[in-house]
Amino acid sequence: MDFLPIFLDIKGRPCLVVGGGQVAARKVSLLLRAGASVIVVSPELCSELQKQADDETIIYQGREFADQDLEGKVLVIAATDNDKVNRHVSELARAANVPVNVVDQPELCSFITPSMIDRSPVQIAVSTGGASPVLARQLRAKLESTIPGAYGRLAAMVERYREPVKQAFPTTEQRKHFWERVLESRIAELVLTGKEEAAERELKKDIEQGADFIPDVGEVYLVGAGPGDPDLLTFRALRLMQQADVVVYDRLVSQPILDMVRRDAEFIYAGKEKANHAIPQDDINKLLATLAKQGKRVLRLKGGDPFIFGRGGEEIMTLMEEGVPFQVVPGITAAAGCAAYAGIPLTHRDYAQSVVFVTGHLKDGSINLNWPALAQPQQTVVFYMGLHGVETICRELIAHGRDADTPAALVEKGTRRDQQVHLGTLATLPGVVEQTQIQPPTLIIVGEVVELQKQLAWFDPQ
Ligand code: SAH
Repeated sequence: MDFLPIFLDIKGRPCLVVGGGQVAARKVSLLLRAGASVIVVSPELCSELQKQADDETIIYQGREFADQDLEGKVLVIAATDNDKVNRHVSELARAANVPVNVVDQPELCSFITPSMIDRSPVQIAVSTGGASPVLARQLRAKLESTIPGAYGRLAAMVERYREPVKQAFPTTEQRKHFWERVLESRIAELVLTGKEEAAERELKKDIEQGADFIPDVGEVYLVGAGPGDPDLLTFRALRLMQQADVVVYDRLVSQPILDMVRRDAEFIYAGKEKANHAIPQDDINKLLATLAKQGKRVLRLKGGDPFIFGRGGEEIMTLMEEGVPFQVVPGITAAAGCAAYAGIPLTHRDYAQSVVFVTGHLKDGSINLNWPALAQPQQTVVFYMGLHGVETICRELIAHGRDADTPAALVEKGTRRDQQVHLGTLATLPGVVEQTQIQPPTLIIVGEVVELQKQLAWFDPQ
């Protein structure tokens, strides 16, 4: 971190701007918005500043900068087109420990001004530490478009009720919970849609309930994290990831996704390597219930989709029995993610009218599947957990009538930066796997659609 972001209270405080052109005018208007008392020193003024000088919005000194101008100032901005003057102001200010900014000259600055999204009292500041102001502005534009203007009104309402809430909820912990619930509730939604009166009525009711309002059971979010690329998360997944108190995650959840979970959440690894379960499933089910009963918001983060070979059903069954509230957020399952990123459409009008997802996990060394059904033509079959059973899978499909030349693909680490697609046929795929160092997770796709990969591959990992 090259700079410390802080928000400075300069209301009524003397701030100096050296220079009287357009650039100076922009800085002056920023300082005025923050309530500063602005003194401008410059032999000349642009029309905008002249107007402000005339109506005494600013204090104007019509002359060259003099060293004593710095005295008593809490902040200085140099915006002249004279490099020598800018440099001199910077040196003096630094020597006097007065924060100084020289426009567009980071090396002369002791502070820089960020790109801002102003939803007063909400302020969002974006900085690239001077590396790329254009990038900062682009980020700002993105945030501008996603953060409703009404967020300012929401914050203002919260501010009005801080005192009453303090009286009703004696501990900081209770207040934190109260505001978290309120800001995620209908009340926030009401403010954002312009129904502030209704919002305040509901808020007052909640405050009146006092300590009774705090629900003592937390909640479990069963969230599908997708196959690996963090861009494939849903908005809801991301929102819940950022408000969880504790996260229980699987091995399949990729690191870039874990990096997006709220930083101060507690992380619990629940494992699941083949035959080496870090925590047995029963214990995971109970753990989720126990954590939620401590009032925590528990994020159960799973690779892909929680309801596809994810044992999500078992986990929420336990929660149901224990009376713990939960919600389920679907994720992009490996078949959808890998197929898309490999360029293999799972269905196609000419080649496959259906697609089947099956587990290729070996139980007691054999795979118990309905082979005659899977060997039917005109369908795509996707095997999860099939790497170790690839030989059996290909052999059985051929034995039950699927053509040995049927194209087959093995997608390694699908959607991730190190994705690899290995192509073959039912006859050759086991050999391909044997000759290649392949790492989990992998997915096997069997069917004529695999042939399209040669034309449709688009994802170019590093
Ligand atoms: N619930 C998950 C599947 C869990 S089973 C989902 O919906 O995707 C675990 C299997 O998923 C792995 O053995 C592998 O076959 C497959 N898998 C998950 N992520 C994958 C990825 N990024 N690339 C390839 N296969 C993946």
